[in-house]
Amino acid sequence: MIEPMLSSKAESSGARDRASGAFPSNEAPPCFHLLAKPSGSTCNIDCQYCFFLSKDALYPDEQHRMSESTLEAYIHQLLSAHRTPDVTVAWQGGEPTLMRLDFFRKAVGFVEKYRKPGQRVKHTFQTNGILLDDEWCSFFHEHDFLVGLSVDGPRDLHDTYRVDRHGKGTFDLVMRGWEKLRRHQVEFNILCTVNAANEHHGRSVYRFFRDDLGARWVQFIPILERATEQTIDLANLGWRAQPGRQRVLYTQTGDRVTNRSVGARQYGQFLVDIFEEWIRHDVGQVYVQLFDVTLEALLGRHLLCIHAPTCGFGPALEYNGDLYSCDHFVEPGYRLGNIHDTPMLEMLASPEQRRFGLNKRESLTAQCRQCDVRDVCNGGCPKDRFALSRDGEPGQNYLCPGLERFFKHTRPAMRTMARLLQHGHAPAEVMALTIAEDKRRGVYAPCPCGSGRKFRFCHGEKESRDHVDTGVTPGHRPRNGPSRTCAS
Ligand code: SF4
Ligand code: SF4
Repeated sequence: MIEPMLSSKAESSGARDRASGAFPSNEAPPCFHLLAKPSGSTCNIDCQYCFFLSKDALYPDEQHRMSESTLEAYIHQLLSAHRTPDVTVAWQGGEPTLMRLDFFRKAVGFVEKYRKPGQRVKHTFQTNGILLDDEWCSFFHEHDFLVGLSVDGPRDLHDTYRVDRHGKGTFDLVMRGWEKLRRHQVEFNILCTVNAANEHHGRSVYRFFRDDLGARWVQFIPILERATEQTIDLANLGWRAQPGRQRVLYTQTGDRVTNRSVGARQYGQFLVDIFEEWIRHDVGQVYVQLFDVTLEALLGRHLLCIHAPTCGFGPALEYNGDLYSCDHFVEPGYRLGNIHDTPMLEMLASPEQRRFGLNKRESLTAQCRQCDVRDVCNGGCPKDRFALSRDGEPGQNYLCPGLERFFKHTRPAMRTMARLLQHGHAPAEVMALTIAEDKRRGVYAPCPCGSGRKFRFCHGEKESRDHVDTGVTPGHRPRNGPSRTCAS
């Protein structure tokens, strides 16, 4: 499982001195964004790319379930540590529905017990959707949960890697969960991984979410599973423990990637493919996380740790109270301590954690430091920096060719939207400008997405599904998708 949407590793908007990313050593951050894993990495399905499945090896011989005392300590510390009115309680996994509903009823009760006057608390919940039923969805609706649903696209693309323990695709079960969310009017968003199977189908995947699932908030996460020369063969077989098979505990080491990982350049092209659709039809209607993040960065606000100058305000909490520097670094060497022994705020303000966050900026390669789009990219996530720069310097982001392609391609339109916003206009006005430009260029000119096809047969087309079976019948289409505000 990967991070949920609203709780998507957002940088703490209250972090002091955002330009430098620093806060004085005697002060703790006023807010932060913690991802809690109440069932550890335990999951009820077996996505082939999910290296989190290997993390159960960190706690062998234990039942990975958060106890009531850890739950209470967590909620209490989280709420008392925040000095901002808004707090997000972010549930993630593994698969958090394995904890059963009673656990979350207690969580909501503890929030009421420890909420400070004036504090506004939002629960987010990232799920594979398999166990969602009327009871769950009615609970989510009642308590205004924002649910992130993991879907990798239409049936064929989703079922390539998102399979159960018998290797069977989970698409139908996930769609059943989506239907329940929709029926109970639960606010939801889609989390889609970009991997070797769907990397060439950006527009079809996006249209499926927008048109068939009625999604109005979508997040794309690149799959990049690292391995070493020694572990790559095992890694290609998957991460779950299997009888008779040696296994690897996933750590952020090695410069090889599995065959399920997205191609570096293709990641950029996938995003460009979606951007060219969005910029003509959906600005202000559909929120694609990275597009929002890029626009906000041009305005000087960094909403997502991955593309912020520094990070370190998005720790992960394991089921037993162990706190790690980041959800992507739940591994030995990044354990900050346990909330039963040390207050979480103290761990967040610790020199180790501050070093972790500042290192994001201090370890940039010369190529990144001189890059034209550094202001919006900032070198990407440190976990992905295992390639060589153009000058042969180690520590370049593996995805750099794709990131550069996306940020350079979208720069003119993003700048136009930023200017519109600064002058009190709606960024959606960029759509009319884009369409006027299309008319000037003509339908037989090459499509600006860079596909090599003529515009008329590419993004100038009214409707196209790349021959991908969406797996959802039109009868399932919601009339109105749930709405969310930009950059909340
Ligand atoms: S290492 Fe930093 S940038 Fe990467 S996901 Fe963790 S907090 Fe975000
Ligand atoms: S696009 Fe590449 S070179 Fe530029 S900041 Fe991002 S990772 Fe660095």
